[in-house]
Amino acid sequence: MNTQSNHMTDVIIIGAGVVGASIALELQRSGRSVTVIDKGESVGGGSTSASSALIRFNYSTRSGVVAAWESFHRWNAWEEHLGYVNGPIAQFHPLSMLLLEPPGFDRSSYLKHFNELGIPFEELDEKSLSDNYPMFDTGRFWPPSLPNDDQFFKNSEGKLGGFFVPYGGFIDDPQLAAQNLMDAARHFGAKVSLRTSVVEIKKTKNKVSGVKLENGEVIESSIVINAAGPWSSHINDLAGVSELMEMSTKAMRQEVHAIPAPAEFNFTNTPVMIGDLDLGFYTRPQPGGTLIVGGVEADCDPVFWVEDPDDDSLNPTVDSWEALVWRLAKRIPGASVPNRPTGLASHYDVTPDWTPIYDRTDLGGFYIACGTSGNQFKNAPLIGHLMTQLISACEAGHDHDNDPVQVLCPMVNEIVDLGTFSRNRKPVAGTGTVLG
Ligand SMILES: Cc1cc2nc3c(=O)[nH]c(=O)nc-3n(C[C@H](O)[C@H](O)[C@H](O)COP(=O)(O)OP(=O)(O)OC[C@H]3O[C@@H](n4cnc5c(N)ncnc54)[C@H](O)[C@@H]3O)c2cc1C
Repeated sequence: MNTQSNHMTDVIIIGAGVVGASIALELQRSGRSVTVIDKGESVGGGSTSASSALIRFNYSTRSGVVAAWESFHRWNAWEEHLGYVNGPIAQFHPLSMLLLEPPGFDRSSYLKHFNELGIPFEELDEKSLSDNYPMFDTGRFWPPSLPNDDQFFKNSEGKLGGFFVPYGGFIDDPQLAAQNLMDAARHFGAKVSLRTSVVEIKKTKNKVSGVKLENGEVIESSIVINAAGPWSSHINDLAGVSELMEMSTKAMRQEVHAIPAPAEFNFTNTPVMIGDLDLGFYTRPQPGGTLIVGGVEADCDPVFWVEDPDDDSLNPTVDSWEALVWRLAKRIPGASVPNRPTGLASHYDVTPDWTPIYDRTDLGGFYIACGTSGNQFKNAPLIGHLMTQLISACEAGHDHDNDPVQVLCPMVNEIVDLGTFSRNRKPVAGTGTVLG
């Protein structure tokens, strides 16, 4: 195959999802020339387009909570954040959040961060849950089960508890949010090449020197960033860094379903998203009268790891539909269950501790923003800033591995410790689920 060098750029970003777009905007704004490469047809057309786009703050690490809290403020000022708009923009819709807990759940691990950061919340016992949500069955169904298990149709017993967070929300069009970021990045000078696959990471000694594309073209750059989402492990393999990190990333199939919202629980009357760890699902209402329903990695749910997301069917399955939608109907008995699955399938890019990796690597100039574990759409307004600070520090010779870069989040005046998102961290003691 013909190998030709067409151009040079300060930074190459592999992936034009919401993560790559966020990084492109901030790096280009910081004065570096950026080229983004994506093999797909459109910006944000990968897993970003399937995102439930929930914005909530319950994470196991302090830096995880700070990042989500800062990002919430940035979503609220989206147009200002972008700095350039030339068409429709993604809309933020406020929702409260209700977490319904399994027995023995240690809510203090979340609430201590909320207390420290001034994020309001309310602890709810069974009585306040049934007073506030008369449409719920507030009994315990624990443990989550599948519809083919006898346990599934048993009546609830015991008393449920949880906590309520008045702030949070969702973005109505996650792909448009990625496009907004990329349009702004382009406006400031970034170049974007779609339908173009990266097939090789070029190196000189232990430094990255560019990428080779499927058509044989080589683009030279001393900085390359892996923002390839569920395809990230393949890119790390190409760079030869997979074996050199404690953390890994792997694509996991996920389905999200949609059902009509019952009159008593919908976007207008009850603007609240629910994480139900007792039954094993999450849901949020959306304008137009639907509820979307997804899973929270209940122990009984089958796990589908995927070698290559391109080989997977993106059709929803009856098994996942039944398990998730019927669980919701147990909690909200007024919900009616249509007899056919409506929804989508896509992939998370999962790390062993469900915490993302925002880091340098042992290959000089090769950075990773991956392993977003089904929970980083909400941080799209901040990820670019985190990576820009990291790259500026490392390229100036800072020893990030031994002295992790600390990033100030100006809207909430708190620090994100980038050591939390290190490729070599000890696994975070979190929920071991998409909640992080
Ligand atoms: C079903 C679902 C529900 C979710 N719900 C939420 C939620 O409620 N809240 C939340 O915060 N997060 C949520 N997430 C997670 C969030 O959406 C992701 O963390 C985020 O969108 C990942 O963005 P990304 O840019 O890393 O990946 P992607 O959007 O997948 O982008 C990666 C891009 O890399 C490109 N690429 C891959 N390989 C190559 C190559 N060799 N050459 C060129 N291009 C390449 C792909 O074409 C793709 O466009 C959800 C995710 C899913 C799948």
